[in-house]
Amino acid sequence: MAIPNILTIAGSDPSGGAGIQADLKTIAANGAYGMSVITALTAQNTRGVDAVHVVPTGFVKDQMLSIAEDIRVDAIKIGMLANAETVLAVAEGLGRFADIPVVLDPVCVSTSGARLLEPDAIDALKDRLIPLASVLTPNLPEAGELLGAPVPSSIQDMENAADALLRMGSGSVLLKGGHLSGASSCDLLVASNTRSWLRAERIDTQNTHGTGCTLSAAIAAQIPRQGSLLQAVGAAKDYVHGAIVHSGLLSVGHGHGPVNH
Ligand code: PLP
Repeated sequence: MAIPNILTIAGSDPSGGAGIQADLKTIAANGAYGMSVITALTAQNTRGVDAVHVVPTGFVKDQMLSIAEDIRVDAIKIGMLANAETVLAVAEGLGRFADIPVVLDPVCVSTSGARLLEPDAIDALKDRLIPLASVLTPNLPEAGELLGAPVPSSIQDMENAADALLRMGSGSVLLKGGHLSGASSCDLLVASNTRSWLRAERIDTQNTHGTGCTLSAAIAAQIPRQGSLLQAVGAAKDYVHGAIVHSGLLSVGHGHGPVNH
């Protein structure tokens, strides 16, 4: 099998821990060839986001078209989209990538509290992009935001939220339970007739910057390699776990440090 070509459509993090930079490192570490369409530039470090500069939507579409006209794409990961106009541009651009698996990470707010998607873009995300996704990967606060409901705070809440999110039209939902307390971190993968809990030992660390980006990029990179979405998510979770475990070898910044790809 040829090495898979994976496209990430996301924002840039100059400190290298999240966004496009995390995605490309993750894709390479998962044995695939990475490409990037940049939706926004951020000025940020491990302490927080200082500024955001959104790429004009016409140019987002230009980048997608350049790839579509020349290169086979085996899977797509979508991350930070900044505003409703960009959501709509990416949804339209995806028309050139029919039948390619799309992993949609509905990035809303950074760990440090900066908004990475304007609140009035949530409706566009729900109406136009989520129905095009093969798998939607919200964390619990993002699930609350998408559902317009309190943040799920128990296993039962997670099951109800995942079912409600699935009704928004993606092929499957991976609801990430890392924000719940407990010795293990439990994620729930649901599709129309399957439901699987995936557990991982919780690691006590400050170095969690970019873990969501890393997981969704790893899933996109693993989909072409694995026999099922469940296996791809399992391999991606193993990869993120290792990257968090080895983050202690890094010495990057003074806040939430990056994981080690
Ligand atoms: N910056 C960019 C460009 C991102 O895409 C993301 C998350 O997707 C973040 C920052 C947030 O990273 P974290 O919340 O892990 O610090």
